[in-house]
Amino acid sequence: MKSRRDFLHKVSAAAAALPFVPSLALADQKEGKEESYQGPVLRVAICGLGSYGTRVADAMQACTRAKLVGAISGTPSKLKEWQSKYGIPEKNCYNYENFDNIRNNPDIDAVYVITPNALHKPQAIRVAKAGKHVISEKPMALNAAEGQEMVDACKKANVKLLVGYRMHLEPKTLEIIRLRKAGEFGKTPFFQGLCGFKIGDPTQWRLDKKLAGGGSLMDIGIYAVNGSRYMLGEEPTWVTAQEVKTDPVKFKEGVDETITFQLGFPSGAVASCLSTYSMNNLDRFFLNGDKGFAEMWPSTGYGPIKAHTNKGEIEYPHVTHQTVQMDEMSDIILKGKKVEVPLDGEEGVKDLKIMDAIVEATKTGKKIPIKL
Ligand code: NAD
Repeated sequence: MKSRRDFLHKVSAAAAALPFVPSLALADQKEGKEESYQGPVLRVAICGLGSYGTRVADAMQACTRAKLVGAISGTPSKLKEWQSKYGIPEKNCYNYENFDNIRNNPDIDAVYVITPNALHKPQAIRVAKAGKHVISEKPMALNAAEGQEMVDACKKANVKLLVGYRMHLEPKTLEIIRLRKAGEFGKTPFFQGLCGFKIGDPTQWRLDKKLAGGGSLMDIGIYAVNGSRYMLGEEPTWVTAQEVKTDPVKFKEGVDETITFQLGFPSGAVASCLSTYSMNNLDRFFLNGDKGFAEMWPSTGYGPIKAHTNKGEIEYPHVTHQTVQMDEMSDIILKGKKVEVPLDGEEGVKDLKIMDAIVEATKTGKKIPIKL
């Protein structure tokens, strides 16, 4: 049987080659909790106990620097269930009416908002006003102006604001970024991001403009927007975009079914992307350079992520993204840790500015300038 020491040795050897990778988190994952960890722990309440909230709660059971301690829900039975499943005390449970009282609770440091998109902004601002750090799911808001309001509210309240960009901490993603920075691919004039899945139930909130703020772009296309930026390592200056709708009954006005978009970058690089709710098998990133290339497929799912370059497979143990994310967020919030690809509110606003421009481009058919 492999000993913990052997494993840590391997992880640190790998981490030497992958300086961006959160190695302690990886060691924790493989071997269970890091028993020797004595530092500060981020005590988190989750707001919105739906499918992703539950995934995060489960993943947090393996965290060492973050702990699930509270819950906010409109459904009393779910609160009861979470109390017994995750050992959450009654005094750390709130509903959507009374959660401002969290300000009087010294046992909670941060609230992770995992509700439908339209609720992120109002709930995040209430959390900030209650003096707690905010983690918001993506997209952080419905547009850039709303996102900026969240950033401003958190600054004013002197609390941190982070966005649940779990791929910013994913080892294979970080390795490709490291290789690109090291010049392994040469100049990188092209990125392709294909993101989509066939969405089911037509009555779900994801297809309700009021709650979702849009359609596939807000939900899944955001990964291609975000990925274009961190894969190419530049900020786009223009966008063109086209919308295709085959089912106007399911995808009502303002809810996009499929959008193709192109982003232009200062070096002359171009990203060509597809966001859709009507095709499966689309979870692929491709970065092309004049000396080499990298491909990830799947590139943004829950994993295992698969990645290779022109030189071969990128091997790295699978980690539960949400466990790593919450441990790293603890370090960012409590220790001021800087990460390779930021996941703060300002980063979220940049993506929303690009998505605002994409929507404008689909409506006008024009090339829209972007200023981040
Ligand atoms: P979900 O429908 O499974 O859960 C949403 C939760 O919000 C439910 O518990 C629901 O009861 C609650 N809710 C509160 N007010 C509501 C209202 N007015 N209408 C509808 N529901 C309400 O959705 P989900 O898949 O958990 O997504 C939640 C958020 O998480 C979204 O913003 C989504 O984009 C994000 N998400 C992120 C990832 C990721 O990988 N980062 C993955 C999935 C979802």
